[in-house]
Amino acid sequence: MSKVALVTGGTRGIGAAISIALQEAGRTVVASYAGNVEKAEAFSAATGIQTLKFDAGDFAECEAAVAQISAEQGPIEILVNNAGITRDGTMARMTRDMWDAVIDTNLGSCFNLCKLTFDGMKTKKFGRVVNIGSINGQAGQYGQVNYAAAKSGIHGFTKALAQEGARFGITVNAIAPGYVDTDMVRAVPEDVLGKIIARIPVGRLGQAEDIARGVVFLTADESGFITGSTLSINGGQHMY
Ligand code: NDP
Repeated sequence: MSKVALVTGGTRGIGAAISIALQEAGRTVVASYAGNVEKAEAFSAATGIQTLKFDAGDFAECEAAVAQISAEQGPIEILVNNAGITRDGTMARMTRDMWDAVIDTNLGSCFNLCKLTFDGMKTKKFGRVVNIGSINGQAGQYGQVNYAAAKSGIHGFTKALAQEGARFGITVNAIAPGYVDTDMVRAVPEDVLGKIIARIPVGRLGQAEDIARGVVFLTADESGFITGSTLSINGGQHMY
């Protein structure tokens, strides 16, 4: 029977490409989203992938969603924590609400869903977790203390949980995308984006599929010896 994969924020952008790639790899995919029903319905109609609306940053909503998926499709064995938002501003302009929203959605969601699926993976003696970090969590970014902290937190979270999962056949890895052509990046002012692209050695923005390819690799049944690692997919923008 095909393994069940949950992709948070899996209905558009990078997440949509991940959902499609995992489906093509033979997984039963559930793609979650926060509130853009129109996009989610169009995505589901085009791909046949089940979509589910819940706030990945809210523990109680995650609990209900995981219970529903487990009852309808079976236990989640592949978890891609992709849901993310930005609320940019310099420290002078950043409010506590902007901080909380970004930490809860980007990092809190990883805790919520790993907490709710990890025991099931242990029982199965198989699990694949991929957390989507960011180049800006590795290198920092002006006006993004909240986002950089959340994404940097994801990288530490990944390495810690990988140690807990290793002897149960559960791998936990992160992908740190560079700048990828999605709604999130299209929101960046054009002149700023031009400067960013000039700093990417490959000479272009990434495509969502560039990231999805990494997720398929890390979640493959055969990838059991790769854990606690961060795969940078950024066109050479940040090498270390
Ligand atoms: P998009 O803004 O294009 O899509 C975000 C997705 O996340 C949507 O499906 C959205 O749902 C969902 N989402 C947002 N908040 C929540 C929430 N609270 N609960 C559940 N789902 C939620 O983002 P990208 O595709 O650009 O980014 C995907 C991931 O990759 C993010 O974690 C981002 O930080 C990271 N990343 C992106 C980069 C880029 O250049 N684009 C670079 C580095 C990292 P809905 O459609 O309902 O709004």
